[in-house]
Amino acid sequence: MNKERVIEDKYLELENTYTSLPQKLFSSENPDKVPVPKVVMFNEVLAKELGIDVQFLKSKEGVDFLSGNRILSATTPIAQAYAGHQFGYFTMLGDGRAVLLGEYVAKNGERVDIQLKGAGRTQYSRGGDGKAALGPMLREYIISEAMNALGIDTTRSLAVVTTGEEVIREKELQGSILTRVAKSHIRVGTFQFISNWGTLEELKELADYSINRHFKKGISEENPYIYLLHEVVKKQADLIAKWQLVGFIHGVMNTDNMVISGETIDYGPCAFMDVYDTNTVFSSIDTYGRYAYGNQPQIGAWNLARFAETLLPLLHENQDEAIKIAQDAIENYMSLYKKNWHSGMRRKLGLFTEENEDEKLIEELLFIMQRYKADYTNTFCDLTLERVHEGELYESREFKKWYELWQKRLTKQSNSVGEYKKLMEKNNPTVIPRNYRVEESLKEAVDNNDYSSIKSLLKAVTRPYDYSNIDEYYTKPDKSRDTPYRTYCGT
Ligand code: AMP
Ligand code: MG
Repeated sequence: MNKERVIEDKYLELENTYTSLPQKLFSSENPDKVPVPKVVMFNEVLAKELGIDVQFLKSKEGVDFLSGNRILSATTPIAQAYAGHQFGYFTMLGDGRAVLLGEYVAKNGERVDIQLKGAGRTQYSRGGDGKAALGPMLREYIISEAMNALGIDTTRSLAVVTTGEEVIREKELQGSILTRVAKSHIRVGTFQFISNWGTLEELKELADYSINRHFKKGISEENPYIYLLHEVVKKQADLIAKWQLVGFIHGVMNTDNMVISGETIDYGPCAFMDVYDTNTVFSSIDTYGRYAYGNQPQIGAWNLARFAETLLPLLHENQDEAIKIAQDAIENYMSLYKKNWHSGMRRKLGLFTEENEDEKLIEELLFIMQRYKADYTNTFCDLTLERVHEGELYESREFKKWYELWQKRLTKQSNSVGEYKKLMEKNNPTVIPRNYRVEESLKEAVDNNDYSSIKSLLKAVTRPYDYSNIDEYYTKPDKSRDTPYRTYCGT
């Protein structure tokens, strides 16, 4: 790369261990040069958490770095190859608009990927332009940071830059680049890629790398690959239960959008459910509701089955035995998921102990909520705050009966009212990024270059469990909406 595109390494040390993997898993790609880079969002808290020099990121060199205009001299930016089942159909994919600048070893010793999304075409771009528009990148920033504050594993957003370029969609939009920070970008689809187009030795290399990077304890196991499978299953059973508990709908749970580290990734068409309905779908392209709210746990199992299939030759030398190990792992996912979800739901209802009747109690409440089109987030807040008097749901006979049973159930534990209220506050967010508030703040930023709404929305969604200071502006459901909310991906 020519000299003026390079920054000295003294500011930030990045490594590229991923390039030690078989060459077919990546291609060397430099980010495009952009005309007028401007940082519009900068996550100083995250930069500090990671231990990256904030002064550097705020400097002229920092802007060049975050826009891809210059790269650190000792790194090799790459695009990663992967495959994936998209809505059930298997395809060869790869980073079509993302460039992995390198890995950074954070202050806490954890290795993270630093990736620019929207940095230009790569070998895997297919028909795409490799670019990203400002609105969707800001949306990813808001929702991923909200997810993090909700206590859900997720890729993070370090910055959003406008490029000074137009990108062509249905109309011309402002070009933008998001700096994504992730534990890694190893996807179920990465394993599918190597399983389909690599050798057994190459599959083993990817699995060993993954174990070494994410599941170190597996190294000393008799069969580290069985350990890998079980750990990935555990992570997803934990993650997807957390999504369900806060009403998060990912929207595009293709196998290329499921990472083995257990982080939520790819914020294209995701959105939070407002009215409780298991059939909720926001994504414009999810015509058959494959990724509807209520289907997410099952889709998790389906994706993990695809992951397990790729590992079969490493699980056991005898194929029947290998299949049995894989099947056991997937069954284990469903039972772990249910266990996580039930204990999460119990916490949402202030229950410390476990009783046989709890499952029925939970199901009954959700059933009534669906019938009365209750706002998912606010109903649990109302229970926490004992605000359950007005409105169709709370005045209904079914709810009153349920409420009595719940009160009775609470007395079966020895914990005080104060204790169970605290438990509920910790598990029932008051603020989620409500779709209309997100849209409103994006519009102001994109159309009027005014970022004040985004900043106040971010402030609210990054303290979701703060009951001492609830801002009604962000907790009010959107009553004015008469058409269903729609989200779009790949924009
Ligand atoms: P997604 O739906 O965001 O998971 O993207 C699916 C695939 O399309 C990924 O391989 C992306 O890298 C690729 N892709 C999305 N948008 C673009 C774009 N504008 N240019 C090139 N590739 C893209
Ligand atoms: Mg994706």
